Amino acid sequence: AEKILEIRDLTCGFFTDDHVLKATDRISFDLNRGETLCIVGESGSGKSVTSLAIMGLLEYSGGVILDGSIKFKGEELTTKSQEELRNIRGNKIAMIFQDPMSSLNPVFTVGDQIAESLMIHQGMSRKEAMAEAVELLRQVGLPAPEMRVNQYPHELSGGMCQRVVIAIALACKPDLLIADEPTTALDVTVQAQILELLKSLQSQMGMSIILITHDMGVASEMADRIAVMYAGTIVEEGTVFDIFDHPSHPYTQGLLNSIPGYETARGTELYAIKGSIPRLSELPTGCRFHPRCPHAHDRCRAMEPVKIDLSETHRTACWLYDDKAEVGER
Ligand code: SF4
Ligand code: MG
Repeated sequence: AEKILEIRDLTCGFFTDDHVLKATDRISFDLNRGETLCIVGESGSGKSVTSLAIMGLLEYSGGVILDGSIKFKGEELTTKSQEELRNIRGNKIAMIFQDPMSSLNPVFTVGDQIAESLMIHQGMSRKEAMAEAVELLRQVGLPAPEMRVNQYPHELSGGMCQRVVIAIALACKPDLLIADEPTTALDVTVQAQILELLKSLQSQMGMSIILITHDMGVASEMADRIAVMYAGTIVEEGTVFDIFDHPSHPYTQGLLNSIPGYETARGTELYAIKGSIPRLSELPTGCRFHPRCPHAHDRCRAMEPVKIDLSETHRTACWLYDDKAEVGER
């Protein structure tokens, strides 16, 4: 499979008065063409920081890439200028956010907002762009697109606005769509419709998706592969089957336990995660999860776990599996 994205040892941070807080610490993952990777974890785990770094938008939220590499279709992004990144954004990589209203401009019609992107990135005339905007609104399932194209965001429901945001994101046929909690602000029925829409657009267009979510139910519906983040690190990574049928990391097991009626294939014992994610300024020693982990032992408090390959597709960062490493460590 063609690799769209290769992330290696990506460390992102924020400067404070006297030191640097690392929001992600040496995270690595790959994404293939046409694949959906869900990044799951609680808020504050570094999911959004990771996506902003890929988009080249981290500095607008006060952060910096401290170290590591982001390769998009073989090209290194971390050394590109803002102008080069602007050209990639909205053209080859698009992003949609949690709150559709904050992504839309209230003073322009939805047609104008879709057309603007087409005029900038595809060099279309206004007339061509408006015709294409109607087509895109039809594609994202907005009823009566010829009428909707002339409406303002406040005239549409939240779910319709998110469809418009998706239309804008898809206008330039991106290779990669990053969706950060795209349905969290919507009610459950609309949420399901939007996820269904993303899936069907993906199969039509063949784009890759990074879906960021705190919701394991959403991940189970959408993901080919899942990366579980905790306190700025990836603690477990695997196919949707690896993660749901054989969750290895105690944090993943705790997240799964938040799904009503969930049982693992192997009958792994599940428990509710107590406590909360640590502040970046007060990260625990050793394994960052140890204060909340029911299996923590002395080694966990002293040493950060290494990444252990449980199979070709499944990796974990937990000392419980140190003797089970078959393929070796990376
Ligand atoms: Fe728990 Fe130790 Fe594994 Fe961390 S390394 S998740 S503390 S058992
Ligand atoms: Mg977030």
